[in-house]
Amino acid sequence: MKTIFERLHHSLSEHRHRNACCIKETFYTYGQLSVEVNKIRQCLRKEVPADDQYVGLIGNDDVQTYAAVLALWFEGKAFVPIRPNTAEDRKISIIEQIGIRSILDSRGQSTFGNYNWINTANLPEADTEFSDFEGGLSDDLAYILFTSGTTGKPKGIPVSRSNINAFIKAFETDNPIQLNEEDRCLQMFEFTFDMSVMCYLLSFLAGACIYTIPEGKIKSNYIFELLEKYRLTYSAVVPSVIHFLRKYFDEIHCPDLRYSILAGEPLHESVMKEWAVCAPNALITNLYGPTENTVICTQYDYKRTGDNKAYHDVLPVGRVLGDNDIIIVDKENNILPPHQEGELCIAGPQLIEGYWKNEEKNKYAFFDLEHEGQIKKFYRTGDLCYYDEDGDYMYIGRVDFQVKIRGFRVELAEVEVHAKHVLKGSNLVALAYTEPKNNVTVLAMAIEGKATDTAPIDAYLQSQLPDYMIPSDYIFYNNFPLSVNGKIDRKKIAKDLVGKVKM
Ligand code: AMP
Repeated sequence: MKTIFERLHHSLSEHRHRNACCIKETFYTYGQLSVEVNKIRQCLRKEVPADDQYVGLIGNDDVQTYAAVLALWFEGKAFVPIRPNTAEDRKISIIEQIGIRSILDSRGQSTFGNYNWINTANLPEADTEFSDFEGGLSDDLAYILFTSGTTGKPKGIPVSRSNINAFIKAFETDNPIQLNEEDRCLQMFEFTFDMSVMCYLLSFLAGACIYTIPEGKIKSNYIFELLEKYRLTYSAVVPSVIHFLRKYFDEIHCPDLRYSILAGEPLHESVMKEWAVCAPNALITNLYGPTENTVICTQYDYKRTGDNKAYHDVLPVGRVLGDNDIIIVDKENNILPPHQEGELCIAGPQLIEGYWKNEEKNKYAFFDLEHEGQIKKFYRTGDLCYYDEDGDYMYIGRVDFQVKIRGFRVELAEVEVHAKHVLKGSNLVALAYTEPKNNVTVLAMAIEGKATDTAPIDAYLQSQLPDYMIPSDYIFYNNFPLSVNGKIDRKKIAKDLVGKVKM
Protein backbone atom coordinates (compact mmCIF):
# COMPACT_ATOMS: atom_id res chain seq x y z
CA MET A 1 0.00 0.00 0.00
CA LYS A 2 1.32 3.44 -0.96
CA THR A 3 2.18 5.94 1.77
CA ILE A 4 0.43 9.31 1.82
CA PHE A 5 3.71 10.92 0.74
CA GLU A 6 3.89 8.69 -2.34
CA ARG A 7 0.23 9.37 -3.06
CA LEU A 8 0.71 13.12 -2.70
CA HIS A 9 3.64 13.09 -5.09
CA HIS A 10 1.60 11.11 -7.59
CA SER A 11 -1.45 13.37 -7.17
CA LEU A 12 0.54 16.50 -8.03
CA SER A 13 1.50 15.11 -11.44
CA GLU A 14 -1.71 13.23 -12.13
CA HIS A 15 -3.87 16.33 -11.54
CA ARG A 16 -1.44 18.80 -13.15
CA HIS A 17 -4.22 20.61 -15.04
CA ARG A 18 -6.80 20.68 -12.26
CA ASN A 19 -7.19 23.38 -9.64
CA ALA A 20 -5.46 22.69 -6.34
CA CYS A 21 -6.12 25.94 -4.45
CA CYS A 22 -8.30 29.01 -4.62
CA ILE A 23 -6.62 31.69 -2.53
CA LYS A 24 -7.87 35.27 -2.41
CA GLU A 25 -10.06 34.56 -5.48
CA THR A 26 -7.08 33.28 -7.54
CA PHE A 27 -6.88 29.69 -8.70
CA TYR A 28 -3.65 27.68 -8.77
CA THR A 29 -3.45 24.36 -10.59
CA TYR A 30 -1.59 21.32 -9.27
CA GLY A 31 0.95 22.10 -12.00
CA GLN A 32 1.51 25.58 -10.56
CA LEU A 33 1.64 24.17 -7.05
CA SER A 34 4.32 21.69 -8.24
CA VAL A 35 6.40 24.52 -9.69
CA GLU A 36 6.41 26.19 -6.25
CA VAL A 37 7.19 22.88 -4.54
CA ASN A 38 10.19 22.39 -6.84
CA LYS A 39 11.51 25.90 -6.24
CA ILE A 40 11.34 25.40 -2.48
CA ARG A 41 12.93 21.95 -2.67
CA GLN A 42 15.85 23.38 -4.66
CA CYS A 43 16.26 26.15 -2.09
CA LEU A 44 16.07 23.70 0.84
CA ARG A 45 18.86 21.62 -0.74
CA LYS A 46 21.02 24.67 -1.35
CA GLU A 47 20.36 26.84 1.68
CA VAL A 48 19.28 24.62 4.56
CA PRO A 49 21.88 22.31 6.11
CA ALA A 50 20.99 18.63 5.70
CA ASP A 51 20.83 18.15 9.48
CA ASP A 52 18.26 20.96 9.90
CA GLN A 53 15.39 18.54 10.30
CA TYR A 54 12.83 20.98 11.70
CA VAL A 55 12.11 24.08 9.68
CA GLY A 56 9.98 27.01 10.81
CA LEU A 57 7.07 27.96 8.56
CA ILE A 58 5.19 31.24 8.91
CA GLY A 59 1.59 30.22 8.27
CA ASN A 60 0.60 32.70 5.57
CA ASP A 61 -2.40 32.29 3.34
CA ASP A 62 -0.75 31.72 -0.03
CA VAL A 63 0.29 29.02 -2.48
CA GLN A 64 3.95 29.15 -1.39
CA THR A 65 3.05 28.17 2.17
CA TYR A 66 1.06 25.10 1.06
CA ALA A 67 3.90 24.26 -1.34
CA ALA A 68 6.40 24.58 1.53
CA VAL A 69 4.60 21.88 3.54
CA LEU A 70 4.84 19.47 0.60
CA ALA A 71 8.41 20.44 -0.25
CA LEU A 72 9.55 19.84 3.34
CA TRP A 73 7.84 16.45 3.44
CA PHE A 74 9.34 15.43 0.08
CA GLU A 75 12.76 16.44 1.40
CA GLY A 76 12.18 14.34 4.53
CA LYS A 77 11.93 17.37 6.83
CA ALA A 78 9.27 18.53 9.27
CA PHE A 79 7.55 21.92 9.44
CA VAL A 80 6.94 23.93 12.59
CA PRO A 81 4.11 26.36 11.83
CA ILE A 82 4.17 29.81 13.42
CA ARG A 83 1.19 32.18 13.37
CA PRO A 84 2.15 35.30 11.45
CA ASN A 85 0.46 37.65 13.92
CA THR A 86 1.60 36.00 17.10
CA ALA A 87 3.60 38.01 19.61
CA GLU A 88 7.32 37.94 18.84
CA ASP A 89 8.19 36.52 22.29
CA ARG A 90 5.93 33.55 21.61
CA LYS A 91 7.43 33.01 18.17
CA ILE A 92 10.90 33.05 19.72
CA SER A 93 9.80 30.67 22.50
CA ILE A 94 8.75 28.13 19.83
CA ILE A 95 11.85 28.65 17.68
CA GLU A 96 14.19 28.31 20.65
CA GLN A 97 12.45 25.28 22.14
CA ILE A 98 12.94 23.31 18.92
CA GLY A 99 16.29 24.85 18.06
CA ILE A 100 15.09 25.97 14.63
CA ARG A 101 17.71 27.64 12.45
CA SER A 102 15.87 28.11 9.15
CA ILE A 103 12.43 29.71 8.71
CA LEU A 104 10.35 29.93 5.55
CA ASP A 105 8.25 33.09 5.22
CA SER A 106 6.46 33.84 1.94
CA ARG A 107 6.02 37.49 2.92
CA GLY A 108 9.68 38.09 3.68
CA GLN A 109 8.61 40.50 6.37
CA SER A 110 10.08 38.94 9.47
CA THR A 111 13.32 40.47 10.54
CA PHE A 112 13.89 39.42 14.12
CA GLY A 113 16.60 37.11 15.37
CA ASN A 114 19.68 35.65 13.82
CA TYR A 115 17.89 32.97 11.81
CA ASN A 116 18.18 31.82 8.23
CA TRP A 117 15.03 33.55 6.88
CA ILE A 118 13.98 32.34 3.44
CA ASN A 119 11.43 34.27 1.40
CA THR A 120 9.61 31.50 -0.52
CA ALA A 121 7.79 33.99 -2.75
CA ASN A 122 11.06 35.22 -4.16
CA LEU A 123 12.85 32.08 -5.24
CA PRO A 124 14.41 31.38 -8.65
CA GLU A 125 12.90 28.77 -10.96
CA ALA A 126 14.10 25.25 -10.19
CA ASP A 127 16.78 23.97 -12.59
CA THR A 128 15.13 20.58 -12.64
CA GLU A 129 11.87 18.87 -11.79
CA PHE A 130 12.82 16.61 -8.87
CA SER A 131 11.64 13.08 -9.42
CA ASP A 132 13.25 11.65 -6.29
CA PHE A 133 11.48 12.30 -3.01
CA GLU A 134 11.19 10.96 0.53
CA GLY A 135 8.07 8.82 0.42
CA GLY A 136 8.72 6.45 3.30
CA LEU A 137 7.28 6.16 6.75
CA SER A 138 9.36 6.39 9.88
CA ASP A 139 9.42 7.92 13.28
CA ASP A 140 10.86 11.02 11.62
CA LEU A 141 8.59 13.97 12.20
CA ALA A 142 6.11 15.48 9.74
CA TYR A 143 5.28 18.55 11.87
CA ILE A 144 5.48 19.94 15.37
CA LEU A 145 2.51 21.94 16.60
CA PHE A 146 2.44 24.05 19.72
CA THR A 147 -0.46 24.19 22.08
CA SER A 148 -1.27 26.12 25.23
CA GLY A 149 0.71 24.92 28.27
CA THR A 150 -0.28 25.25 31.93
CA THR A 151 3.14 26.58 32.93
CA GLY A 152 2.82 29.65 30.71
CA LYS A 153 5.07 28.16 28.00
CA PRO A 154 3.50 26.59 24.88
CA LYS A 155 4.17 22.85 24.61
CA GLY A 156 5.38 21.09 21.48
CA ILE A 157 3.47 18.17 19.97
CA PRO A 158 5.74 16.28 17.54
CA VAL A 159 3.76 14.26 14.98
CA SER A 160 5.63 11.65 12.96
CA ARG A 161 5.26 10.62 9.34
CA SER A 162 3.84 7.28 10.51
CA ASN A 163 1.30 9.03 12.76
CA ILE A 164 -0.10 11.08 9.93
CA ASN A 165 -0.15 8.14 7.55
CA ALA A 166 -2.08 6.13 10.17
CA PHE A 167 -4.57 8.98 10.56
CA ILE A 168 -5.36 9.08 6.84
CA LYS A 169 -5.63 5.29 6.70
CA ALA A 170 -8.05 5.29 9.65
CA PHE A 171 -10.12 8.09 8.16
CA GLU A 172 -10.38 6.55 4.71
CA THR A 173 -11.40 3.10 5.93
CA ASP A 174 -15.14 2.34 5.90
CA ASN A 175 -15.97 6.02 5.85
CA PRO A 176 -18.92 7.50 3.96
CA ILE A 177 -16.74 10.61 3.50
CA GLN A 178 -14.76 9.99 0.29
CA LEU A 179 -13.46 12.98 -1.66
CA ASN A 180 -12.82 12.99 -5.40
CA GLU A 181 -11.23 15.39 -7.87
CA GLU A 182 -14.50 17.27 -8.43
CA ASP A 183 -14.71 18.31 -4.78
CA ARG A 184 -14.42 21.94 -3.68
CA CYS A 185 -13.21 22.03 -0.11
CA LEU A 186 -13.23 24.75 2.48
CA GLN A 187 -9.89 25.19 4.30
CA MET A 188 -10.54 27.70 7.10
CA PHE A 189 -7.93 26.53 9.58
CA GLU A 190 -4.62 28.11 10.43
CA PHE A 191 -1.49 26.03 9.83
CA THR A 192 -1.01 25.85 13.61
CA PHE A 193 -4.26 23.89 14.05
CA ASP A 194 -4.10 20.28 12.87
CA MET A 195 -7.56 20.40 11.27
CA SER A 196 -5.79 22.35 8.50
CA VAL A 197 -3.62 19.27 7.81
CA MET A 198 -6.77 17.20 7.43
CA CYS A 199 -8.38 19.68 5.02
CA TYR A 200 -5.49 20.18 2.62
CA LEU A 201 -4.26 16.62 2.83
CA LEU A 202 -7.62 14.99 2.04
CA SER A 203 -8.14 17.47 -0.77
CA PHE A 204 -4.66 17.15 -2.32
CA LEU A 205 -4.77 13.35 -2.08
CA ALA A 206 -8.05 13.35 -4.02
CA GLY A 207 -6.99 15.96 -6.60
CA ALA A 208 -9.70 18.32 -5.27
CA CYS A 209 -9.44 22.08 -4.73
CA ILE A 210 -9.13 23.94 -1.40
CA TYR A 211 -10.70 27.37 -0.83
CA THR A 212 -8.97 29.38 1.90
CA ILE A 213 -9.95 32.33 4.05
CA PRO A 214 -7.80 35.41 3.46
CA GLU A 215 -6.36 37.11 6.51
CA GLY A 216 -8.39 40.02 7.72
CA LYS A 217 -11.73 38.56 6.56
CA ILE A 218 -14.29 37.73 9.21
CA LYS A 219 -14.12 33.97 9.04
CA SER A 220 -17.77 33.04 9.46
CA ASN A 221 -19.00 35.69 7.00
CA TYR A 222 -16.44 34.75 4.38
CA ILE A 223 -17.23 31.05 4.76
CA PHE A 224 -20.84 31.88 3.98
CA GLU A 225 -19.70 33.78 0.84
CA LEU A 226 -17.44 30.91 -0.28
CA LEU A 227 -20.10 28.28 0.28
CA GLU A 228 -22.52 30.11 -2.00
CA LYS A 229 -20.20 31.59 -4.60
CA TYR A 230 -18.14 28.47 -5.28
CA ARG A 231 -20.83 25.93 -4.35
CA LEU A 232 -18.44 24.16 -2.02
CA THR A 233 -18.97 20.44 -1.61
CA TYR A 234 -16.94 19.89 1.59
CA SER A 235 -16.70 22.07 4.63
CA ALA A 236 -14.97 21.44 7.93
CA VAL A 237 -15.46 24.07 10.61
CA VAL A 238 -15.48 24.40 14.38
CA PRO A 239 -19.02 24.55 15.83
CA SER A 240 -18.45 28.19 16.93
CA VAL A 241 -18.55 29.17 13.24
CA ILE A 242 -21.99 27.65 12.84
CA HIS A 243 -23.13 29.44 16.01
CA PHE A 244 -22.04 32.75 14.50
CA LEU A 245 -23.78 31.91 11.21
CA ARG A 246 -26.99 30.98 12.99
CA LYS A 247 -28.50 34.43 12.59
CA TYR A 248 -28.18 34.04 8.80
CA PHE A 249 -29.58 30.51 8.62
CA ASP A 250 -32.71 31.83 6.85
CA GLU A 251 -30.54 33.06 3.98
CA ILE A 252 -28.16 30.09 3.79
CA HIS A 253 -28.92 27.38 1.27
CA CYS A 254 -26.08 25.08 0.22
CA PRO A 255 -27.55 22.13 -1.71
CA ASP A 256 -24.09 21.33 -3.21
CA LEU A 257 -22.51 20.63 0.16
CA ARG A 258 -21.86 16.87 0.31
CA TYR A 259 -19.98 16.76 3.59
CA SER A 260 -20.37 19.14 6.50
CA ILE A 261 -17.73 18.27 9.09
CA LEU A 262 -17.72 19.77 12.56
CA ALA A 263 -14.83 19.24 14.92
CA GLY A 264 -12.86 20.63 17.80
CA GLU A 265 -15.62 21.53 20.26
CA PRO A 266 -18.83 20.06 21.66
CA LEU A 267 -21.51 19.96 18.97
CA HIS A 268 -25.10 20.78 19.88
CA GLU A 269 -27.93 18.74 18.43
CA SER A 270 -30.39 21.66 18.49
CA VAL A 271 -28.09 23.73 16.26
CA MET A 272 -27.46 20.82 13.88
CA LYS A 273 -31.19 20.36 13.43
CA GLU A 274 -31.36 23.90 12.03
CA TRP A 275 -28.07 23.63 10.11
CA ALA A 276 -29.32 20.45 8.42
CA VAL A 277 -31.98 22.56 6.66
CA CYS A 278 -29.31 24.93 5.29
CA ALA A 279 -27.26 22.00 3.97
CA PRO A 280 -30.06 19.67 2.86
CA ASN A 281 -27.87 17.14 1.01
CA ALA A 282 -24.86 17.04 3.29
CA LEU A 283 -23.68 14.24 5.49
CA ILE A 284 -23.19 16.09 8.79
CA THR A 285 -20.43 14.62 10.89
CA ASN A 286 -18.96 15.30 14.32
CA LEU A 287 -15.24 14.52 14.51
CA TYR A 288 -13.18 14.32 17.67
CA GLY A 289 -9.53 14.01 18.55
CA PRO A 290 -6.67 15.69 20.38
CA THR A 291 -3.62 16.98 18.48
CA GLU A 292 -1.53 14.45 20.46
CA ASN A 293 -3.34 11.64 18.63
CA THR A 294 -2.99 13.17 15.15
CA VAL A 295 -6.05 15.13 14.11
CA ILE A 296 -9.06 12.94 14.79
CA CYS A 297 -9.90 9.45 16.01
CA THR A 298 -13.69 9.24 16.42
CA GLN A 299 -16.66 10.10 14.23
CA TYR A 300 -20.39 10.45 14.67
CA ASP A 301 -22.65 10.84 11.64
CA TYR A 302 -25.68 12.99 12.43
CA LYS A 303 -29.00 11.31 11.65
CA ARG A 304 -31.41 13.44 9.64
CA THR A 305 -34.26 11.10 10.38
CA GLY A 306 -34.80 9.25 13.61
CA ASP A 307 -33.31 10.04 16.96
CA ASN A 308 -29.77 11.14 17.58
CA LYS A 309 -28.05 10.21 20.79
CA ALA A 310 -27.18 13.26 22.85
CA TYR A 311 -25.97 14.17 26.31
CA HIS A 312 -27.56 17.46 27.44
CA ASP A 313 -27.96 18.43 23.77
CA VAL A 314 -24.30 17.56 22.99
CA LEU A 315 -23.97 15.01 20.18
CA PRO A 316 -21.73 11.97 20.69
CA VAL A 317 -18.17 12.01 19.44
CA GLY A 318 -19.08 8.60 18.10
CA ARG A 319 -17.35 5.46 16.93
CA VAL A 320 -13.60 4.76 17.04
CA LEU A 321 -11.79 5.07 13.70
CA GLY A 322 -9.13 2.66 12.42
CA ASP A 323 -6.70 1.04 14.84
CA ASN A 324 -7.13 3.59 17.60
CA ASP A 325 -7.60 1.91 20.96
CA ILE A 326 -9.87 4.00 23.20
CA ILE A 327 -10.67 3.24 26.83
CA ILE A 328 -12.46 5.05 29.64
CA VAL A 329 -10.65 4.94 32.98
CA ASP A 330 -11.32 6.03 36.54
CA LYS A 331 -8.84 7.99 38.66
CA GLU A 332 -6.84 4.80 39.41
CA ASN A 333 -6.62 3.87 35.70
CA ASN A 334 -9.13 1.03 36.03
CA ILE A 335 -10.87 0.43 32.73
CA LEU A 336 -14.57 1.21 33.03
CA PRO A 337 -17.48 -0.65 31.39
CA PRO A 338 -20.16 0.99 29.17
CA HIS A 339 -22.16 3.90 30.61
CA GLN A 340 -19.65 4.71 33.34
CA GLU A 341 -18.14 8.16 33.18
CA GLY A 342 -14.36 8.50 33.24
CA GLU A 343 -11.41 9.98 31.39
CA LEU A 344 -11.02 9.04 27.74
CA CYS A 345 -7.54 7.63 27.02
CA ILE A 346 -6.09 6.65 23.65
CA ALA A 347 -3.40 4.29 22.38
CA GLY A 348 -2.50 3.28 18.84
CA PRO A 349 -0.61 4.21 15.70
CA GLN A 350 -1.74 7.86 15.63
CA LEU A 351 -0.41 8.59 19.12
CA ILE A 352 2.72 10.75 19.40
CA GLU A 353 5.79 9.50 21.27
CA GLY A 354 5.51 12.32 23.80
CA TYR A 355 5.68 16.09 24.18
CA TRP A 356 8.78 17.82 22.91
CA LYS A 357 11.47 17.68 25.64
CA ASN A 358 8.96 17.81 28.46
CA GLU A 359 9.54 14.80 30.70
CA GLU A 360 7.43 16.18 33.52
CA LYS A 361 4.36 16.60 31.33
CA ASN A 362 5.01 13.25 29.62
CA LYS A 363 5.05 11.44 32.96
CA TYR A 364 1.64 12.84 33.74
CA ALA A 365 -0.02 12.61 30.33
CA PHE A 366 1.14 9.14 29.19
CA PHE A 367 0.96 5.79 31.00
CA ASP A 368 1.41 2.11 30.16
CA LEU A 369 -1.51 -0.24 30.64
CA GLU A 370 -2.34 -3.77 29.58
CA HIS A 371 -5.29 -3.86 27.21
CA GLU A 372 -6.44 -6.71 24.99
CA GLY A 373 -3.43 -8.78 26.03
CA GLN A 374 -0.82 -6.15 25.24
CA ILE A 375 0.98 -3.46 27.20
CA LYS A 376 0.24 -0.22 25.40
CA LYS A 377 1.10 3.42 25.90
CA PHE A 378 -2.05 5.47 26.55
CA TYR A 379 -2.57 9.23 26.46
CA ARG A 380 -4.85 10.98 28.96
CA THR A 381 -7.04 13.38 26.99
CA GLY A 382 -8.57 15.18 29.98
CA ASP A 383 -11.99 14.57 28.37
CA LEU A 384 -14.75 13.18 30.55
CA CYS A 385 -16.73 10.66 28.50
CA TYR A 386 -18.58 7.37 28.55
CA TYR A 387 -19.43 4.89 25.82
CA ASP A 388 -22.56 2.90 25.13
CA GLU A 389 -23.25 -0.64 23.98
CA ASP A 390 -23.07 0.44 20.29
CA GLY A 391 -19.50 1.65 20.84
CA ASP A 392 -20.45 5.32 20.55
CA TYR A 393 -18.51 7.66 22.83
CA MET A 394 -20.39 10.51 24.53
CA TYR A 395 -18.63 13.74 25.48
CA ILE A 396 -19.52 15.18 28.89
CA GLY A 397 -16.88 17.82 29.60
CA ARG A 398 -13.32 18.33 30.81
CA VAL A 399 -11.65 17.01 33.94
CA ASP A 400 -9.29 20.03 34.03
CA PHE A 401 -9.11 23.74 33.19
CA GLN A 402 -8.59 23.46 29.45
CA VAL A 403 -11.18 25.29 27.36
CA LYS A 404 -11.84 25.90 23.69
CA ILE A 405 -12.15 29.47 22.41
CA ARG A 406 -13.29 29.63 18.76
CA GLY A 407 -11.93 26.08 18.48
CA PHE A 408 -8.50 27.03 19.86
CA ARG A 409 -7.23 25.12 22.84
CA VAL A 410 -6.51 27.31 25.87
CA GLU A 411 -5.11 26.31 29.25
CA LEU A 412 -6.63 28.83 31.65
CA ALA A 413 -3.50 28.55 33.82
CA GLU A 414 -1.37 29.90 30.97
CA VAL A 415 -3.48 33.08 30.78
CA GLU A 416 -3.28 33.40 34.59
CA VAL A 417 0.52 33.05 34.68
CA HIS A 418 0.89 35.99 32.29
CA ALA A 419 -1.82 38.15 33.93
CA LYS A 420 -0.10 37.67 37.30
CA HIS A 421 3.04 39.09 35.78
CA VAL A 422 1.20 42.44 35.47
CA LEU A 423 -1.05 42.23 38.53
CA LYS A 424 1.67 41.10 40.89
CA GLY A 425 0.28 39.61 44.07
CA SER A 426 -3.35 39.80 42.90
CA ASN A 427 -5.74 36.96 43.28
CA LEU A 428 -7.19 36.25 39.85
CA VAL A 429 -8.72 33.46 37.76
CA ALA A 430 -9.21 33.03 34.05
CA LEU A 431 -12.41 31.27 33.11
CA ALA A 432 -14.68 30.60 30.17
CA TYR A 433 -18.42 31.05 30.05
CA THR A 434 -21.07 30.53 27.40
CA GLU A 435 -22.48 33.78 26.09
CA PRO A 436 -26.18 32.89 25.75
CA LYS A 437 -27.07 35.08 22.77
CA ASN A 438 -24.75 33.39 20.29
CA ASN A 439 -24.04 30.30 22.37
CA VAL A 440 -20.29 30.87 22.02
CA THR A 441 -17.58 30.39 24.62
CA VAL A 442 -15.99 33.60 25.86
CA LEU A 443 -12.73 33.94 27.77
CA ALA A 444 -12.92 36.17 30.85
CA MET A 445 -10.85 37.12 33.85
CA ALA A 446 -12.04 37.64 37.40
CA ILE A 447 -9.86 39.74 39.71
CA GLU A 448 -10.11 40.14 43.45
CA GLY A 449 -9.62 43.81 44.29
CA LYS A 450 -10.72 47.28 43.29
CA ALA A 451 -11.87 47.71 39.68
CA THR A 452 -9.00 49.13 37.65
CA ASP A 453 -8.24 49.98 34.05
CA THR A 454 -7.69 46.69 32.24
CA ALA A 455 -5.83 48.20 29.26
CA PRO A 456 -2.32 47.55 30.70
CA ILE A 457 -3.25 43.90 31.37
CA ASP A 458 -4.51 43.53 27.81
CA ALA A 459 -1.42 45.21 26.42
CA TYR A 460 0.90 42.84 28.29
CA LEU A 461 -1.13 39.75 27.40
CA GLN A 462 -1.12 40.81 23.74
CA SER A 463 2.67 40.96 23.83
CA GLN A 464 2.84 37.37 25.09
CA LEU A 465 -0.19 35.42 23.90
CA PRO A 466 -2.19 34.79 20.73
CA ASP A 467 -5.36 36.87 20.27
CA TYR A 468 -7.72 34.04 21.26
CA MET A 469 -6.04 33.88 24.68
CA ILE A 470 -6.82 37.51 25.55
CA PRO A 471 -9.87 37.83 27.86
CA SER A 472 -12.83 39.58 26.25
CA ASP A 473 -14.32 40.45 29.60
CA TYR A 474 -13.21 41.35 33.13
CA ILE A 475 -15.08 41.20 36.40
CA PHE A 476 -13.93 42.50 39.80
CA TYR A 477 -14.87 41.30 43.28
CA ASN A 478 -13.99 42.65 46.72
CA ASN A 479 -13.91 39.01 47.76
CA PHE A 480 -14.21 36.08 45.39
CA PRO A 481 -17.35 33.97 45.81
CA LEU A 482 -16.39 30.62 47.32
CA SER A 483 -17.96 27.20 46.93
CA VAL A 484 -18.94 25.09 49.95
CA ASN A 485 -15.49 23.53 50.08
CA GLY A 486 -13.76 26.91 50.05
CA LYS A 487 -12.61 26.93 46.39
CA ILE A 488 -13.17 29.93 44.14
CA ASP A 489 -16.66 29.42 42.78
CA ARG A 490 -16.05 29.62 39.04
CA LYS A 491 -19.65 28.63 38.27
CA LYS A 492 -20.95 31.61 40.25
CA ILE A 493 -18.47 33.93 38.50
CA ALA A 494 -19.58 32.60 35.11
CA LYS A 495 -23.21 33.27 36.09
CA ASP A 496 -22.30 36.81 37.15
CA LEU A 497 -20.57 37.37 33.82
CA VAL A 498 -23.64 36.18 31.90
CA GLY A 499 -25.79 38.52 34.01
CA LYS A 500 -23.39 41.37 33.29
CA VAL A 501 -23.65 40.75 29.53
CA LYS A 502 -27.44 40.83 29.65
CA MET A 503 -27.53 44.19 31.43
P1 AMP B 1 -7.10 20.01 19.85
O1 AMP B 1 -5.87 19.32 20.35
O2 AMP B 1 -6.93 21.47 19.66
O3 AMP B 1 -7.66 19.33 18.64
O4 AMP B 1 -8.17 19.86 21.00
C1 AMP B 1 -8.58 18.61 21.47
C2 AMP B 1 -9.67 18.78 22.48
O5 AMP B 1 -10.78 19.49 21.91
C3 AMP B 1 -10.26 17.48 22.94
O6 AMP B 1 -9.49 16.88 23.96
C4 AMP B 1 -11.64 17.91 23.40
O7 AMP B 1 -11.59 18.49 24.68
C5 AMP B 1 -12.00 18.98 22.39
N1 AMP B 1 -12.76 18.43 21.25
C6 AMP B 1 -12.29 18.13 20.03
N2 AMP B 1 -13.28 17.67 19.23
C7 AMP B 1 -14.40 17.65 19.97
C8 AMP B 1 -15.76 17.26 19.71
N3 AMP B 1 -16.16 16.82 18.53
N4 AMP B 1 -16.65 17.35 20.74
C9 AMP B 1 -16.25 17.80 21.95
N5 AMP B 1 -14.99 18.19 22.24
C10 AMP B 1 -14.07 18.13 21.27
